[in-house]
Amino acid sequence: MGDPRAFLKVKRHKSKEAPAQERIKTWREFTIEPPPEELLSQASRCMDCGIPFCHQGCPLGNLIPEWNDLVYRGDMESAAARLLATNNFPEITGRICPAPCEASCVLNLDGEPVTIKDIERAIARSPRAHPKLAAIDITPTGRKVAIVGSGPAGLAAADELQKRGHAVTVFERDARIGGLLRYGIPDFKLEKWLIDDRVNELAARGVTFRTRVDVGSDVTKDDLFAYDAVLLATGSRVPRDLATPGRELVGVHYAMDFLSQQNDRVAGVSVPKDRELLATGKRVVVIGGGDTGSDCVGTSIRQGALSVMQLELMPRPSLTRMPENPWPEWPLVFRTSSSQEEGCERDFGVMTTGFVASADGHTLAGLSAVRAELRGGKITPQPGTDLSIPTELCLLCMGFTGPERGLPELLGLTLDARGNVPTDATGRTSVPKVFATGDASRGQSLVVWAIADGRRAAEGIHAALRGS
Ligand SMILES: Cc1cc2nc3c(=O)[nH]c(=O)nc-3n(C[C@H](O)[C@H](O)[C@H](O)COP(=O)(O)OP(=O)(O)OC[C@H]3O[C@@H](n4cnc5c(N)ncnc54)[C@H](O)[C@@H]3O)c2cc1C
Ligand code: SF4
Repeated sequence: MGDPRAFLKVKRHKSKEAPAQERIKTWREFTIEPPPEELLSQASRCMDCGIPFCHQGCPLGNLIPEWNDLVYRGDMESAAARLLATNNFPEITGRICPAPCEASCVLNLDGEPVTIKDIERAIARSPRAHPKLAAIDITPTGRKVAIVGSGPAGLAAADELQKRGHAVTVFERDARIGGLLRYGIPDFKLEKWLIDDRVNELAARGVTFRTRVDVGSDVTKDDLFAYDAVLLATGSRVPRDLATPGRELVGVHYAMDFLSQQNDRVAGVSVPKDRELLATGKRVVVIGGGDTGSDCVGTSIRQGALSVMQLELMPRPSLTRMPENPWPEWPLVFRTSSSQEEGCERDFGVMTTGFVASADGHTLAGLSAVRAELRGGKITPQPGTDLSIPTELCLLCMGFTGPERGLPELLGLTLDARGNVPTDATGRTSVPKVFATGDASRGQSLVVWAIADGRRAAEGIHAALRGS
């Protein structure tokens, strides 16, 4: 273990960030990684507490106290090997995971958890975290697996199945690999060369990637069933709509339509003029307070919005933990994301009731809303609290309702009440040979869960193929 008394002497120091006024001038990441000596001293704070709650907090079961100790001893190579044993893409989670591990760290009892995520990100820089073809000894099984969808769940499964000797083909409808890592999450949170590096590594090891292929139309059911196993990793991509008067106005758009365009621009892919969505010079309203909403805030600010306002239906959370939300539960407290810090007005308990057209009758000029309170578990509008907010661009970020319809039905899969593809613990669906993973079966979640699910489904497929 690290220094058994370090947590008494060394304060938590999180990695620093470039000042907001500087970072909004570019699309680059802005975290300033701590120098090696600082990293070592932060790792020493891990007290190897006997029952490591961080293992349970991390959906991947990352062996956190083990690699903290190795980092403290300066053995980054062994730390990378331990990290890679449970996490296929630590360079990604080390950047965008909300770090439930830190919430459940025993030191978080007084709000000073180990900087686990920073340490993970630093370990992921080690060459050992990127095994090349020669480093992996693989015996081909002669079995073929089709993976539909190249988000983190599909990629983690491809990595695991290829290591077990199966011939893996990943089908992706988009032009580039990565799912929401590529098209949803902005570059200022995750630069895309990180995905390219992993994809190149997988391709060099023999994984076949087929992009611009829509499974269900370009690839038929018979084509798919020619594989020994099929893994559905299609995500949860149907956005929740706001059925309110004026919804059809030009200027009211889904978050993903806006974010994916900007990710394309940063990648050098031009966006057709007639489809262009830009916040430049506009008063932007973002409806929804989650990750997607924050990403729209940061993107709008970088595009040069006149102002950005973010509305949340739920009441403002408490600044401190409430007694009904004790450690090590995920703290339901008021948070400010890096994008919100960059200059955004936030309002809570606001229910949008309609969109207002400008004089031309078809473009957005504003929205109407009313204050709402949470009473008896129900959001209740408050009479006499009408609001009118001017806006030329309103982005809907109210979550996703489930996987797209069509392919699950084509494959004869049953869906659960929420529209997701239910599976058993090994990822098996109701149809033999077909497995499902990630957001497609869990519902919209987190990258760390997608990787964990992808690993589990790969294990399930491997067991099924070995059994047959
Ligand atoms: C804007 C935004 C920001 C987010 N930020 C974070 C964050 O900061 N941290 C975090 O942990 N999580 C974040 N999330 C959530 C996270 O991105 C998802 O939980 C995760 O990507 C789910 O992975 P997945 O592999 O299941 O699906 P996805 O990433 O959605 O990938 C599914 C893939 O399947 C493809 N596909 C679908 N149907 C077909 C078909 N018929 N044929 C071929 N291909 C098909 C899609 O094109 C897509 O590429 C964010 C989500 C959004 C929308
Ligand atoms: S993947 Fe997320 S939860 Fe797991 S150790 Fe890394 S930051 Fe923590």
